[in-house]
Amino acid sequence: MGDKVEEVTGDEVKPFIFAEKHARSLSKAAGRPKSPIARSHSSSPTRPYSPVPGYANGQSSGHPNGFAIHPSCFAYFPTACSFEGILEDLLSSSTSNPGFNQWFASPACTELEVVVMGWAAKLFGLHDIFWNVNEVGGGVIQTTASDSALTVVAARTRYVNEHPGITLESLIIYVTTQTHSFGRKAAMILGLRVRALDVDETVTTDNTGLTGDGLIAAVKEDHARGLHPFVLIATVGTTSSGAIDQVADLGAAIKKNYPSVWLHVDAAWAGVTLACPEYREIAQLPGINESADSLCINFHKRGLTNFDTSALWVRERKQLIDALDITPEFLRTKEGDTGTVIDYRNWHLSLGRRFRSLKLWFVLRSFGVESFQANIRKCIALNNSFTEHIRASPIFELVTPPSFALTVFRLLPRSSTAAGELDSVNALNREFYSGLQTRSSLVLTQTLIGEVFCIRFAVGPSRTEQSDIEDAWGVIKETEESTFRNMGY
Ligand code: PLP
Repeated sequence: MGDKVEEVTGDEVKPFIFAEKHARSLSKAAGRPKSPIARSHSSSPTRPYSPVPGYANGQSSGHPNGFAIHPSCFAYFPTACSFEGILEDLLSSSTSNPGFNQWFASPACTELEVVVMGWAAKLFGLHDIFWNVNEVGGGVIQTTASDSALTVVAARTRYVNEHPGITLESLIIYVTTQTHSFGRKAAMILGLRVRALDVDETVTTDNTGLTGDGLIAAVKEDHARGLHPFVLIATVGTTSSGAIDQVADLGAAIKKNYPSVWLHVDAAWAGVTLACPEYREIAQLPGINESADSLCINFHKRGLTNFDTSALWVRERKQLIDALDITPEFLRTKEGDTGTVIDYRNWHLSLGRRFRSLKLWFVLRSFGVESFQANIRKCIALNNSFTEHIRASPIFELVTPPSFALTVFRLLPRSSTAAGELDSVNALNREFYSGLQTRSSLVLTQTLIGEVFCIRFAVGPSRTEQSDIEDAWGVIKETEESTFRNMGY
């Protein structure tokens, strides 16, 4: 692959000539210039706004709109944003393309999505079974990663079909203690049981998350109780600590022992890293390609594409469609009846849908593969430089190994604090975090790893530079000093 994902040929591009001109004017062989947005919000000493102006004197009035793309936003997982994404939102709103009954009513909306999801599959090195063009699996753009909870419906349909006579009450969804909330939400919506398997994410392990042995032990227990696990939601890059469930191991265990169990891989945050070949092994590409029934990756996290652009791929599109297809007479079309076109309304919940593929088209055409990769590598390098500060400091410690662009750390107690006691170390860190929240020049969020209270530092906005990391480190050290002073140590 060169700088472009792939040249589109034929008439498909003609309606988008405006975007094409724009892309050419922005793309340069050796990288790309800053977009107008980047210039107006440059990370120069005179910032246009602070990410947390309402936090003066510890009085939180909430974050201003846009805080999540500020270069000093290290909270949650910052959202991606680019000039291209903004432009697309304007354009797609102006065309008012509701995208219902999709091929007949909105062929451009459907066809472009088929094309860009193919590009994205190639960008991430996905097995060609996931490519739309091969008509076995395929990709669809969802609003958010949580929408991929719908794969649980497909998993349930497949499992029930393969086990006639099984009762719905005996079905159970598997997540881990670190899975994002959508696994539990799927259980709530479907009225099914859910079990959160325990994973150890502390620094004593290598942040490997769930393994095949852990899964097999749990399934045996549940079978003995008359229950039927039918789907596992594994995560590559958990929200709390960036832990990575061992997908190849899990996939092999499932295939060998419980082939009806559906494996969904939630790579909402870490998945974009697959664009860089050097991270594919650690980001579980071999396991995904070999065994995942479905996979979700958010372009709106580190993928330079504005919210809402969550990519979902399924290994067998028929299984998703069989579970979700409802076609009343008024939606029937010649193309749909012959099965020669994709009707994306059968791939997700809503009937109408936005023209989100334009957003990906703008981003991928304008940035190209190399600039897309460069942004991912930059975030990881910046995070590594922050991690180095923590490692070199006698005052802080890493709580989990750093993961891609996320560091989880905490303040170490001084000799005068009750060093060994978790409660007092947690109290110290809560105080430290409260102090950080009063600082207007950065945003961080907290988490619990087991019972350990710690701080997350996530690098994401494309305008974050080394100077922002150094500024943040300075603020963190100042806050550490004032924390100890305030606590009388
Ligand atoms: N999965 C993971 C690992 C996440 O970190 C998040 C959000 O941070 C989600 C899923 C949910 O993402 P969305 O807001 O797209 O539903």
